[in-house]
Amino acid sequence: MFNKLVIANRGEIALRILRACKELGIKTVAVYSTADRDLMHVRLADECVCIGPAKANDSYLNISALISAAEIAGADAIHPGYGFLAENAHFAEAVIKSGFRFVGPTPETIRQMGNKLSALKAVEALGIPTIPGSGKALSLQHSRNRMLAKKIGYPVIIKAAAGGGGRGMRVVHEEMHLARSIEVTQAEALAAFGQSTVYMEKFLEQPRHVEVQVLCDQQGHAIHLGDRDCSMQRRHQKILEEAPAPNIPQTLKDQIAAACVQACQKLGYVGVGTFEFLYQDTQFYFIEMNTRIQVEHPVTEMITGVDLVKEQIKVAAGYPLTLTQADIQIRGHAIECRINAEDPQTFLPSPGKIHYYHAPGGPGVRVDSHIYTGYQVPTYYDSLLGKIITHGDTRDQAIRRMQNALDELLIDGIHTNISLHRNHILPQPEFHAAEMTIHSLEHYLSKSAHV
Ligand code: ADP
Repeated sequence: MFNKLVIANRGEIALRILRACKELGIKTVAVYSTADRDLMHVRLADECVCIGPAKANDSYLNISALISAAEIAGADAIHPGYGFLAENAHFAEAVIKSGFRFVGPTPETIRQMGNKLSALKAVEALGIPTIPGSGKALSLQHSRNRMLAKKIGYPVIIKAAAGGGGRGMRVVHEEMHLARSIEVTQAEALAAFGQSTVYMEKFLEQPRHVEVQVLCDQQGHAIHLGDRDCSMQRRHQKILEEAPAPNIPQTLKDQIAAACVQACQKLGYVGVGTFEFLYQDTQFYFIEMNTRIQVEHPVTEMITGVDLVKEQIKVAAGYPLTLTQADIQIRGHAIECRINAEDPQTFLPSPGKIHYYHAPGGPGVRVDSHIYTGYQVPTYYDSLLGKIITHGDTRDQAIRRMQNALDELLIDGIHTNISLHRNHILPQPEFHAAEMTIHSLEHYLSKSAHV
């Protein structure tokens, strides 16, 4: 097992990784920016190294600072968490070249899956269904793009091949807007992701976002840990997730999960990973693969009893999986609400000092958060304060427990989206009936003055 691991991240996921390391008896090194001296995991880690100024480009995205920190600390592995450099093949390469283990798949796999077009090609060749679309970069000839869109049928969506985080996408409803939309998406993609390649897909109008969690070791074993529904989104960003995905025939879910496991074996995939799909009219369509631990991993942990972060670290250290597919038994239902520091009306970030914090508790309630009374939420990073996760024997019980947990949760001093979850998402009849689509929340928000 690793002796010492660098946690190359911040916030709740840094604390989550620290907890897993402590259980595994691995010493931890927290790296932090000057804005993050007071982070909870920095206090709890065995060692800590300041890696630079507040701006992420100068600290959490600074590859040489991170490698130097690992060298100074004498660590043997680096865990990237999610976001920042977690899906940066260049970082994974630098980590390995410097003599450290990277907790994640190989740089080649990260590169292949990091580009949505090459990911589409790879999984399509392995028999996983994809959305009708261009399947390749759009040409410079507008007449060709026009023909293509006509063939696919409007509405279509233009997507940046290197896109992520819900950015670099544009829906086109009519031919007259096609050329301009392609141009704008290309320009945005170049500015945000450093390359302008875009492709076209049919825009699905009533899909759900359903994803499959996989876990694979270096010896060629692969298993899945069931599925999650992440349809509750705003601006293509997930806000509430649950597992298992409700209201989908189990045989269809079993088939797609088995296809993901087979694909992992053929790709030689190592680590945890997520195959993301849109699901509409009993069909699954692959959209992308995430080659890292996801924000929403706790809902899967709650229904399987498997600690995904510990498993991820163990396979990175070279241990073969001790779990088989038959060991993965789904028990009950779990829901996660992402708690963000943001104005519930304008959705603008709301950094500042937390004057008072009280966490919920009781049976089936889990809180993954780094905040505490007196903690100052910095302005520099994403607004995630933590996640409330509830588990119940049934979906209804998990929802009731979530209502209770949100009633108990107090975060004073800054604005949060607690009221959005409690008063607007959880009570929605569509959500109760498990009939939500990826558009439900935005439709609801546009119709109502929601707070
Ligand atoms: P990102 O990497 O930015 O998360 P994804 O490809 O995973 O991008 O898509 C994010 C979200 O965008 C999906 O969950 C879905 O809500 C929406 N989306 C993407 N492709 C389509 C499509 N073809 N039709 C409808 N919605 C889509």
